[in-house]
Amino acid sequence: MTITFSVFSFILGICLGSFANVCIYRLPKGKSIAWPGSFCPRCKKGILWYDNIPLFSFLLLRGKCRFCREKISPRYFIVELLTGVLTLLLFLKFNISLEFLIYLIFILSLIIVSFIDIENFLIPDCIVYPGIALGLLLSFLYPELQSQGCGPLAALKTSFLGVLLGGGFLFLIGYLGGLIFKKEAMGGGDVKLLAMVGAFLGYKSVFLTVFFSSLVGAVISLILISLKIKKRTDYIPYGPYLVLGAIISIFWKGYYFVGFLID
Ligand SMILES: [Zn+2]
Repeated sequence: MTITFSVFSFILGICLGSFANVCIYRLPKGKSIAWPGSFCPRCKKGILWYDNIPLFSFLLLRGKCRFCREKISPRYFIVELLTGVLTLLLFLKFNISLEFLIYLIFILSLIIVSFIDIENFLIPDCIVYPGIALGLLLSFLYPELQSQGCGPLAALKTSFLGVLLGGGFLFLIGYLGGLIFKKEAMGGGDVKLLAMVGAFLGYKSVFLTVFFSSLVGAVISLILISLKIKKRTDYIPYGPYLVLGAIISIFWKGYYFVGFLID
């Protein structure tokens, strides 16, 4: 049974990844995500349904448009695979539960945010503001999201402290960085993104997220610079690292982190 559901969650994940790709392409351009159907940006021909199957179509078409052979960004494949794997991992950790559903929505929006940040150097307000509100609301409606056996008001408080801490933390770093280095060290988008993470995961996970995002960020930046993919002076967006840190925090649930339980 578990195997059937595992396969199903992976398929659900790659379909959601396909939807995420539409959002990543259209949201920064201010276009509707519901209409029209997908089309090739070069020859404007509509994508046929059988060329729109997650993962497989990209491989069958070898990453090119069927009509004009325009190269399709590997990002489409990467996002579908990543969403599929994370949905599968969520199922394996939380089974079929409200937590599974809530974290799935959360992770999907995080994936959309991070790839928009990678491609456009911006974090879309139209995701993070509703995200903060949704995190607060869901904590109140489903307190188990914040802690086993706590009441709606206590869960709302944990979530609200997460928003304050998440927002305040990066704002302070950005402010101090601005004073010391006389340039913007932390974008306003990152502040809002960490506030959203705090709303969903609570204030304790904000520490965990910042810890892991700086660690992963330092390592990946070093690799990118030493492989000469990025120059030392290039701007490397911080949003994707925050997202990585937040995803690690979700899977850390139920374990201790420097003396306190992430629950
Ligand atoms: Zn084309």
